[in-house]
Amino acid sequence: MAAATPLNGTKDAAKTLDFDSFVQIIDGQVATASETRHGINPANLKPLAEVPVATQDDLDCAVAAATEAFRKWSNVPYEDRRRAVLAYADAVDQLQSKFRDLLITEQGKPIPQAEAETKAGIEWIRGMANIPLPTDVIEDGQTRSVITTYTPIGVVGAIIPWNFPLMLTTAKLAPAVLTGNVIIIKPSPFTPYCGLKLAELAQQFFPPGVVQSLSGDDRLGPWLTSHPGIGKISFTGSTATGKLVLRSASETLKRVTLELGGNDPAIICPDVDIEKVAEKVAFFAFLNSGQICLNIKRIYVHDSIFPQFQKALIKQVKSYVLGDGSKDGVSHGPLQNEMQYNRVKSFFEDIKSQGWKVAVGGDISPSEGYFISPTIIDRPPDDSRIVIEEPFGPIVPLLSWKTEEEVVARANDTHMGLGASVWSNSIENAARIGKRIQAGTVWINTHFDLSPAAPFGGHKESGIGTEWGLNGLKGFCNVQTLFLNKKVVG
Ligand code: NAD
Repeated sequence: MAAATPLNGTKDAAKTLDFDSFVQIIDGQVATASETRHGINPANLKPLAEVPVATQDDLDCAVAAATEAFRKWSNVPYEDRRRAVLAYADAVDQLQSKFRDLLITEQGKPIPQAEAETKAGIEWIRGMANIPLPTDVIEDGQTRSVITTYTPIGVVGAIIPWNFPLMLTTAKLAPAVLTGNVIIIKPSPFTPYCGLKLAELAQQFFPPGVVQSLSGDDRLGPWLTSHPGIGKISFTGSTATGKLVLRSASETLKRVTLELGGNDPAIICPDVDIEKVAEKVAFFAFLNSGQICLNIKRIYVHDSIFPQFQKALIKQVKSYVLGDGSKDGVSHGPLQNEMQYNRVKSFFEDIKSQGWKVAVGGDISPSEGYFISPTIIDRPPDDSRIVIEEPFGPIVPLLSWKTEEEVVARANDTHMGLGASVWSNSIENAARIGKRIQAGTVWINTHFDLSPAAPFGGHKESGIGTEWGLNGLKGFCNVQTLFLNKKVVG
């Protein structure tokens, strides 16, 4: 099987890709659809291009093509698969500004953040292609060797959320095909465009059936998770949907990776530089208008510096520029869709009904897009909805703490366990506190700092398994142990 370097893909061929129309790809071909739908630009509510609505029959065809492609792709040497993946990364890189603009239009994020996501998408492909998949020699004696290898699972269904539609597509595609699997990509119906275009571009670099895409409505996810021909679901999305995915996948004992919601605490110690740390904490709380699984979602500030820190946070938030992400100078864009806009609005309705004190923001002005001003709630009760739930929007509770025992207990008093940060001038103290937090990623003096080489995943209801890093690659594999008896029987 010749599948090493780009099949017919070149940087120039990539450049001819048209970014105005969007298709789904089955078995290397454009799959026509009798029904279409469209996304909405959340900054102005204008309809975007039509996309296909996949049928159950489309899924069956894609799984059949994937199964056929897997027989050959799984036998392509790792180094050749790696070369194809790296060539694909170069092509995405060539189209960086087109992907960035598409991302702004469909997701709403401001230019610098769309640029960062696009670059991260490329970095994650390259980063994972640079992780060698090991063969573990457990024993190598005179009479026998015991060797563990990591073999591909088969057909992977990749289910993507609407907050990072580009980066989370490449970050599933690369490890899946590197490890010899084949992948069917299902973008969110709210943000189908970058995912579909990435799969279309992939046809220039991988044989038919290795990378496919299906664009559907709400029926497609459950079809994927229950399909007997799919061996693994790589899911990123909400905890509520993750539980449905797990339930459905259990019927056919599919492997699953679940990257789910978060309620990240940030613990601010009394010895910090208030202005500088407040700037960073506000940044990570409101980045992408609060629509990141790893936003800071609970800010715990030591009682002794609370008023000063609150003042510094308010100053930061007031400097933000809310608007259409495609315009220069905008720092914060809209909520991505109407469902999320209405959910976040329900937290604003609680301000009055629950008597919460607003430190900054608090109003939702009428606008032509799904815009909500960044808002901080001053010391709501620990059992209030804004502390317990993940709003996934620009509203965050500011809380105060007195003792280390107390703040660690409160930070851990949640079903979530995705990320957490501790901020202090004493790295030693911060690390001691950080290690006590139940979360998949803990940062000292930063937040949302990630690497394609490091495993990422959640504790508790924030997920099952990890993606990225060597652990992430192994998550796309079965484990096979070979006992090699060196004495011939007889
Ligand atoms: P969501 O769960 O509503 O949807 C995610 C994806 O699942 C979409 O593609 C959707 O079409 C699909 N889906 C919906 N119902 C399904 C079902 N029954 N079976 C299979 N698939 C189904 O999540 P969202 O609103 O798109 O994203 C926001 C959530 O994702 C937040 O909770 C956020 O914290 C989480 N998230 C987590 C991570 C992480 O890495 N841990 C990253 C980004 C977002």
